[in-house]
Amino acid sequence: MYEAVIGLEVHVQLSTTSKIFSGSPTAFGAEPNTQASLIDLGMPGVLPVPNAKAFEMAVKFGLAIDAKIEQESIFDRKNYFYPDLPKGYQISQFEKPIVGPGRVTIMIDDGHTRTINVTRAHLEEDAGKSIHDVFDGITGIDLNRAGTPLLEIVSEPELRSAREAVAYLKVIHSIIRYLDISDGNMAEGSMRCDCNVSIRPEGSQVLGTRTEIKNVNSFRFVEKAIDTEIRRQIEILEDGGRVVQETRLYDPDKDETRPMRSKEEANDYRYFPDPDLLPIVIDDSFIETCRGNLPELPDARKARYIAEYGITDYDAGVLVADRDLADYFAEVANISGEGKLAANWVMGSVLAELNQTNTTITKFPVSPRQLSDLLSRIKDDTLNSKTAKTVFEALLTGDDEVDTIIEEKGLVQMTDTGAIEAIVDEVISENSDQVANYRAATSDKQSKMLGFFVGQVMKKSQGKANPQAVNHILSSKLT
Ligand code: ADP
Ligand code: MG
Repeated sequence: MYEAVIGLEVHVQLSTTSKIFSGSPTAFGAEPNTQASLIDLGMPGVLPVPNAKAFEMAVKFGLAIDAKIEQESIFDRKNYFYPDLPKGYQISQFEKPIVGPGRVTIMIDDGHTRTINVTRAHLEEDAGKSIHDVFDGITGIDLNRAGTPLLEIVSEPELRSAREAVAYLKVIHSIIRYLDISDGNMAEGSMRCDCNVSIRPEGSQVLGTRTEIKNVNSFRFVEKAIDTEIRRQIEILEDGGRVVQETRLYDPDKDETRPMRSKEEANDYRYFPDPDLLPIVIDDSFIETCRGNLPELPDARKARYIAEYGITDYDAGVLVADRDLADYFAEVANISGEGKLAANWVMGSVLAELNQTNTTITKFPVSPRQLSDLLSRIKDDTLNSKTAKTVFEALLTGDDEVDTIIEEKGLVQMTDTGAIEAIVDEVISENSDQVANYRAATSDKQSKMLGFFVGQVMKKSQGKANPQAVNHILSSKLT
């Protein structure tokens, strides 16, 4: 009945070592108020000096999303009062941003892709931080973050569901990580997202009234906040009401959005060109140098992995989304020469373990060489899927040599048909009732009943019997 319309404004903290208009350091986690200079505080008599690194990063991002790089862009003052902005204005770009229209491709779960247009991306400085949880009844101000470069990436209102919004955000995240222009750490605020949400009757071409959910700080919360907000707006319309344009906050504990300020209270920022800064002029050679320094990007890497390792479009999409995971997979695949098997293990056991322990691949205890050794032992039939899992678990707890683990735990797969036959005979004689049932059943039922016997044999062999051989011997002995 209703269709959701979503546009995202993503703020990315650029990983320059110094600030966008001053030489103060940008490192995260320093003692409060030790990293803001007179320029960051906008003291009278000081002048901002643009940091070329920030421009290089913005241009690289623009090139990566196939955007128009604006050769002349302008810094404006966005005026507002807030305690964490002592100079009373933020330097941003309003009418002439550095990056013009571009596009990204998102993949939805079923492998289906969509192109989402990016309206613009502009450079600006971050504000300081208000600290509410350190002093009782008093808000502290930490200005270390003031002047840290941000790239704000604005999408067209073309996303149609919370899941699409998350897919879009993940593509942006992936691109900035490949470009190495930000650590993209949402928990530390290096990447923040404002979600603009409206709904309209399906088929309508007119945009509905939107609300903006500010500063959502994880992929999961983006999905939940948008879903919650869509439900809230539908309820309002169903009850005959109308949505009020306002800024809202998402409360993850209550899973609800709450009003922050309405349009009537909205600031008039009185943007005007910053008189302390000249227009930024970027020449062709700067753009071409940036282009020459672009790394292989996720889409290109995906195509290469499909061709080189013979993996599916979907698998390649999941693997390349995270640059470190993609590197890990490629190393396993290259050492072992087993692309498909490597993809199965990385997407299965490795990702499951990362999710469960909430860690990243860079801190994963099993090295690509170890995993590759494991794959080789599966390939040469030393291990079956069950014993391979046992070895994998041993690697996780810090054991380091695959062959030593196999030897110490006595995991070599039993392929000797004589030994398997002996176990099969035992199982048949110990389960005469089931055997009689099996023999009386139709062949359709028999294939279902076989699992029971296979299970018994595997158990007696302590998981070491070769499952194909067990199946084969059982079927012939049971008939
Ligand atoms: P502002 O500057 O007031 O924040 P913009 O027009 O620049 O507004 O839009 C900001 C974001 O809101 C963009 O990502 C845009 O796609 C999105 N947006 C605009 N209108 C709507 C709407 N009706 N529904 C959902 N998103 C919208
Ligand atoms: Mg906005």
